[in-house]
Amino acid sequence: MTGGRVYVIGAGLSGLAAAVALAQRDIPVTLLEAAAHAGGRCRSYFDPQFDSVIDNGNHVILSGNTAAQDFVKTLGASAHLGGPSDALFPFLDLHTGQRWNFHPNAGAFPWWVMSDHRRVPGTHARDYWPYRKLRVTTTTQVRDTVPVSGPIWEKLLRPILLAALNTEPEISSQALTATVVNDSLGKNGAACRPCIAVPTLSAAFIEPALKFLKARKADVRFGQRVRTLRYEDTRVIGLDMGDQSIALTPGDAVILAVPPWIAGDMVPNLTVPNEFREIANAHFKRVPPKDAAPMTGLIGGAAEWVFAFPDRISVTISAADALSDVPREQLAARIWDDICALYRWDEPLPVWQIVRERRATFAATPEQAARRPGAATIWRNLALAGDWTDTGLPATIESAVRSGNKAAALILQSR
Ligand SMILES: Cc1cc2nc3c(=O)[nH]c(=O)nc-3n(C[C@H](O)[C@H](O)[C@H](O)COP(=O)(O)OP(=O)(O)OC[C@H]3O[C@@H](n4cnc5c(N)ncnc54)[C@H](O)[C@@H]3O)c2cc1C
Repeated sequence: MTGGRVYVIGAGLSGLAAAVALAQRDIPVTLLEAAAHAGGRCRSYFDPQFDSVIDNGNHVILSGNTAAQDFVKTLGASAHLGGPSDALFPFLDLHTGQRWNFHPNAGAFPWWVMSDHRRVPGTHARDYWPYRKLRVTTTTQVRDTVPVSGPIWEKLLRPILLAALNTEPEISSQALTATVVNDSLGKNGAACRPCIAVPTLSAAFIEPALKFLKARKADVRFGQRVRTLRYEDTRVIGLDMGDQSIALTPGDAVILAVPPWIAGDMVPNLTVPNEFREIANAHFKRVPPKDAAPMTGLIGGAAEWVFAFPDRISVTISAADALSDVPREQLAARIWDDICALYRWDEPLPVWQIVRERRATFAATPEQAARRPGAATIWRNLALAGDWTDTGLPATIESAVRSGNKAAALILQSR
């Protein structure tokens, strides 16, 4: 294939990463997005009830997420990644009132396990030894690899892995867990500093990407839902959007960067993940205390991670499917109680909003991981992108960006 235009379908982070990688190399790009805005599952919007711009959900990347960090750097948006200046994870156990910090050190040798001030209270350095196996790639579940009870599991590994995998860590894929551990947590403190988009996701990831594409004359179109791909022999020859269609010339290529259930309908015989987990986020219009940590892990409550933004407090609950039937008012009140315990407040519920993303990520189980396709397809000018493609990582920003880069590289190679 020689150089024509590349049509990227879907302006989530994987589609944006692919479009940016291509535009950076002066490849003509058209980005087609069904919604009226970019960002997909990582977006900011004006919420009338909240009366300000909020994120659909709090997103954390780690300093060791190299593809996501490079993406933000390429966009010139690194100043919009805030968070603690060090790999410091404060925790509160709501049952006991005990507070502690998980604080891995920066160098290669993990001496933090020797320090009472850096590890889970009531644990000893030797207790961490069995968890070295979390680095091993196997096709089993995590519970077949390491002990899934006791304070290290309950008060450190479970909350962190639950957030990273968005699936009950016990039944999660050990292989996916190993990539998370090897790239960040198990590496050293320098690789697992949390980076949080400020003031919004859009400011850090989405607006800068659109600006980058605009500056390179990429053709970005919203409200363009591609309904079918037309195939002939070994190529995609057209895109149908209902009332209009685009005929591809022989040099043109397509990157399909849509969610798995849509890709599965558009590409013949494609096996995709088909089990998902919800993420619930609650936002409260209340300024946090001045000395509040950017993010705090809570054990034993409804809230799992509390984020302190300058103008609001936001909470994330991963794999939140079990809470789907809890009425919103009741859930907001329960979460607010947890926040009051964290900040030692006794205050009525402020203005709030709960955003539930029912299919936030694919379930990170071995069975679902086995359903992930690679970026290449049997169609010569079609590549796949999305956090659900086989990047070896759970469904995260890092996975989405890597998948977009990979799809762009495949298309470039075929030229
Ligand atoms: C609440 C929540 C919290 C999260 N927290 C974190 C976190 O803390 N850290 C982290 O790393 N990750 C987190 N994630 C995961 C992260 O958001 C995703 O991995 C990433 O955004 C996925 O990007 P994507 O491009 O693969 O998919 P999507 O964002 O789903 O993008 C697909 C795009 O395709 C568009 N589209 C669909 N169909 C069509 C069509 N037919 N034609 C044209 N366009 C179409 C959609 O509108 C969408 O814009 C979270 C996700 C959620 C929902």
